[in-house]
Amino acid sequence: MASTIACCSADYNSSMNGIDEVIRTMDTGGARPIATDGYGQSPDRLQRFGNLLQRRQEAVRGIQWTVVALYLLLLLLPALTALTPEADPSLMRLTTWVEMLFWGVWWPGVVFSVMLFGQFWCGLLCPDGTLTECASRHGRAWKIPLRLRWAGWPLLAFTLLSAVQNSIGADGLPPLTLLLGGTSLAALLSGYCYARGKRIWCRYLCPAGAAFSLLSRCAAVHFKVDRSAWDAARRPLPRPVDCPQLLDVRRLAGNAECSMCGRCSGHRNAVALAHRAASSELENLTPTEARPRDAFAICFVLIGVGFSALHGAGGLVQRGWPNEGMTLNAALDGTLALLLNAALLGGGLLALLLIGTKGDRARAALLSYSLIPLGGVALTLGAFDHAAVIGGRLGLTPGSLLPALRTLLIAAGVLWSLKIGHRLIGALPAERGRSRAGSFAAVAAAAAWMAWCS
Ligand code: SF4
Repeated sequence: MASTIACCSADYNSSMNGIDEVIRTMDTGGARPIATDGYGQSPDRLQRFGNLLQRRQEAVRGIQWTVVALYLLLLLLPALTALTPEADPSLMRLTTWVEMLFWGVWWPGVVFSVMLFGQFWCGLLCPDGTLTECASRHGRAWKIPLRLRWAGWPLLAFTLLSAVQNSIGADGLPPLTLLLGGTSLAALLSGYCYARGKRIWCRYLCPAGAAFSLLSRCAAVHFKVDRSAWDAARRPLPRPVDCPQLLDVRRLAGNAECSMCGRCSGHRNAVALAHRAASSELENLTPTEARPRDAFAICFVLIGVGFSALHGAGGLVQRGWPNEGMTLNAALDGTLALLLNAALLGGGLLALLLIGTKGDRARAALLSYSLIPLGGVALTLGAFDHAAVIGGRLGLTPGSLLPALRTLLIAAGVLWSLKIGHRLIGALPAERGRSRAGSFAAVAAAAAWMAWCS
């Protein structure tokens, strides 16, 4: 046994050294020495990967356009097949497989990648991001109007898209195609109109961005900026970073708005892709940094809307409200059901947090961040449910796999949320009449409620 472990360990080390060597060779173009970090140390593997992204932008663009081509194929082929009255049965079956992979693999994969590694999907692979940036390079370059920068647009767009999806059943085709194609066209249009070579869509408008910017704060990697190294950089200074998200890289302090494109990596020898403890960005927040807007986004949109939409507005509303006696048509019923469900769920969560913190709004807002992992888990579980329904059309039954996966993910989400809540509460100053136990009980009750709803 010991020799087996030693052998595996040697294999592992040798394979990791091999990967290191490949990255080092690509990173340096085979010749250039690797730059040191701001402290004069050799960059580690993550840092070298970040530098690789920065130096190989052409290769990244090649990958991005390959993803765009694949995306268009997956988007259009099933829709065209669905619209053909006498389509080949094998082609129909293929489109059903595409649907199932979209909900069962692609969407959960993106959600988890964002929660674990930040918004690499957005910066490197998202077809809408590639399209909007390309359009922006060749577009009108108008100044971005102030009203476009309103922070509520992504939340509103997420809510509207979820409502539409809920009311017309967009887990089927071609409605899903219409929704995804429509957002791609909007991304193209915004890119064509505003700024030059930037991603206005991703920064201010993308509906998924509303959820991803919250989820990415759980990630265990980030682009870290060493402010003193930045300020002490020797002249001549390099050209400013062409950040597609229009961020002030020098002041970058978290993952929420960074799309992890890597273009700033190594800049002034002060920016590096680095590891950090998972969810530390959330655990180090203070009540003064907690924003009511984020609390609203977490409780009503990420959890309320996202959860209700992907679970078909089940739970509270589906159990009798709106009832059959209402005169609204089916589409409006679906939309209303989703909004009511989201309001009840989000309002209930906020009420619990307010009760636990004895009405302290700043503390309640702070504790709402602890629920982000459960929001991500709920989004993923809803997608798995959709995939299972679609898989049923193919004669596939998940058996005990889905319940086991569900239990595992919910348990992981609850534990993660409790850990964040515990850290946040532990860092709060003790105040008379506001017990930490009460705050923790509120987080635990919120987590338990969500687990029950899952
Ligand atoms: S700060 Fe800007 S340039 Fe740097 S990785 Fe994030 S999005 Fe890219």
